[in-house]
Amino acid sequence: MFEGLLTVDLQSEESDLVARIAELERLKAAAAAAQARAAAALDASRRAAESAAGVPRARQGRGVASEIALARRDSPARGGRHLGFAKALVNEMPHTLAALERGQLSEWRATLIVRESACLDVEDRRALDAELCGDPAGLDGMGDARVAASAKSIAYRLDPQAVVDRAAKAETERTVTIRPAPDTMAYLTALLPVAQGVSVYAALRREADTTFDGRSRGQVMADTLVERATGRSAVVPTPIAVNLVISDETLLGGGTEPGDICGYGPIPAAVARGLISGAVADTHSRATLRRIYTQPSSGALVAMESRARLFPRGLAAFIGLRDQRCRTPYCDAPIRHLDHAEPHAHGGRTDVANGVGSCERCNYVKEAAGWKVSTNTDETGRHTAEFTTPTGKHYRSVAPPRAPAVAISELEVRIGIALTRHAA
Ligand SMILES: [Zn+2]
Repeated sequence: MFEGLLTVDLQSEESDLVARIAELERLKAAAAAAQARAAAALDASRRAAESAAGVPRARQGRGVASEIALARRDSPARGGRHLGFAKALVNEMPHTLAALERGQLSEWRATLIVRESACLDVEDRRALDAELCGDPAGLDGMGDARVAASAKSIAYRLDPQAVVDRAAKAETERTVTIRPAPDTMAYLTALLPVAQGVSVYAALRREADTTFDGRSRGQVMADTLVERATGRSAVVPTPIAVNLVISDETLLGGGTEPGDICGYGPIPAAVARGLISGAVADTHSRATLRRIYTQPSSGALVAMESRARLFPRGLAAFIGLRDQRCRTPYCDAPIRHLDHAEPHAHGGRTDVANGVGSCERCNYVKEAAGWKVSTNTDETGRHTAEFTTPTGKHYRSVAPPRAPAVAISELEVRIGIALTRHAA
């Protein structure tokens, strides 16, 4: 579809190849600018139509960010950022938009400028836009860090109070998150106001400075963090329930299909087996096996249904384990709600087929006019959900694949992992 535009003549001179790389980079930036214009226009068009139709102002434009995300194969959270970026550029920052269009800024650098100016009012934002990007030659040679620092220092000069206010507001965004790290470790990240962050770190370091038992400083700090956060001394084992999903083949037959710890992600088969045998051998721990279903195409749970509007626990657990993450394509956020694809009010059934795991944001978006979700089962027996947006575009998501071994049966293992002090 872009043949002429994107062909590369592999026989070119080296200098022509470099020129081609530069040209393609400009093309990417120009495409980002055009995407921003299209996104802002979509939002304006939708709001105008909804306003004419009498939709209350607060509900206008709901779901537009998710539509942009689907079109860009990105998560709804990023869709929101893309839309905010587009509206800022198109409505308030013409020089930054022009620099992006000419390829003097990449999409990321333009994003940094928009972000650093977000705390300013429109007038100051326009002033920042003109000062930083009005003379495009000034952007030559500036890397990401310098672009962000320049935007920040201009914003600080224009409205110091706004920057202070933003810092105060940022405190409301404090949170703790977890994501997988290599080698079956996990990064537990706390986003804290700077004073609290520094004092937590100092407390852990103080512990490390006064402990001499053969553990490294890092190990002492990590162990101390775990002890204090779980509220128990690490010497006394603290059972923590962890849901681990593995196939029977992996559990009993030495299979290699990875296990999956809910809220964390996949772990290698051998590690999953090690966790379970450790939990079984440890008298402080308890491992219980629960068979979720046999023969996914005909198992009893699959046929399970409820007349209630809310999904009963067993059914909810089944859908949560099946979907693992929000079912909106590219979303990947943790499941917070179980939705009826066909709404309960319209006769949608409370069963496995009609139930779809959803994050908070996507659950809210699907309520907007023009959104529809329909479910089905594909040739291989996997659950599919088709999302239709207000413009009539279709996007499909398929429940995560299961290994052939799981076709025989699937087990849920609840293990109490004992937190014990590392050998001194
Ligand atoms: Zn979602």
